[in-house]
Amino acid sequence: MTEPTQPATVLSVTDLTPNVRQLVLLPQRQKLDFLPGQWVSLKLPISPHPPLNRAYSMAEPASPSGELTLVFDRVPQGSGSNYLYRLQAGDTVILSGPHGKFVLPQPPGRALLCITRYTGLVPVRCMLKALEAIRDPTPVLLVAVGPAEDELLYHFELLSLAVSRPGFQYLPLVAPTEEAAVALVADMLSPLLPQKSKAVPLLCGTKAFVHPLRQYLIEAGYQRKEIKIESYG
Ligand SMILES: Cc1cc2nc3c(=O)[nH]c(=O)nc-3n(C[C@H](O)[C@H](O)[C@H](O)COP(=O)(O)OP(=O)(O)OC[C@H]3O[C@@H](n4cnc5c(N)ncnc54)[C@H](O)[C@@H]3O)c2cc1C
Repeated sequence: MTEPTQPATVLSVTDLTPNVRQLVLLPQRQKLDFLPGQWVSLKLPISPHPPLNRAYSMAEPASPSGELTLVFDRVPQGSGSNYLYRLQAGDTVILSGPHGKFVLPQPPGRALLCITRYTGLVPVRCMLKALEAIRDPTPVLLVAVGPAEDELLYHFELLSLAVSRPGFQYLPLVAPTEEAAVALVADMLSPLLPQKSKAVPLLCGTKAFVHPLRQYLIEAGYQRKEIKIESYG
């Protein structure tokens, strides 16, 4: 059975950092009912048949208007992300979804330990916005690594959230490669982990970042099934 797809109109294009772009899309047929952390599959007409499938997480919770906010980095020689960089307001993309199980743990209430690299922050930012919208008091530590200082996504928004939302801690880090990011996060976490042992870890980013850190958390005493991950690349 083929999955249902629909066209969506690009409403706006905004650069968030030198190498990260936001697209706001409006599905043309049916509003998508999605949970924070879920993603859509874009069917990109790069080869005539079949289209190139690329997944992108929603950066904003579902809104009454039905708009979808997607945020992606430009991967050098990446055919999907470079195609998206050529889109302009008024263009159309085909998508399906929502998909995915990387969502806030249920029942809510347990502290969260969110660890992301670069655009791996996107689904977690959506979760944080959803928690903020209902003034949910769940304690959150967000460790967000960027490849350079000017590539730290949502940096000022998160700094300001750390001031205004009790229980939200934000630890921004910069590391040029995934390997360096893993080492840095492990270093920063080791003194914190004993206090965080009741927190639910949520990890998102490329496999080279997420998988070694999941292993690190398992060695620190977490059960594999307790650790929620979204990994790709
Ligand atoms: C569930 C899911 C959700 C995703 N959500 C997002 C999102 O919100 N934002 C986003 O930018 N991407 C997201 N991705 C990745 C996205 O689907 C593409 O893989 C990415 O844009 C690269 O595609 P490409 O064709 O340009 O590069 P490809 O030609 O497929 O090259 C990918 C290679 O580039 C490297 N790389 C660098 N940055 C990325 C990156 N962001 N994702 C994957 N590989 C990368 C990897 O080492 C990988 O081997 C998600 C993937 C999945 C599976």
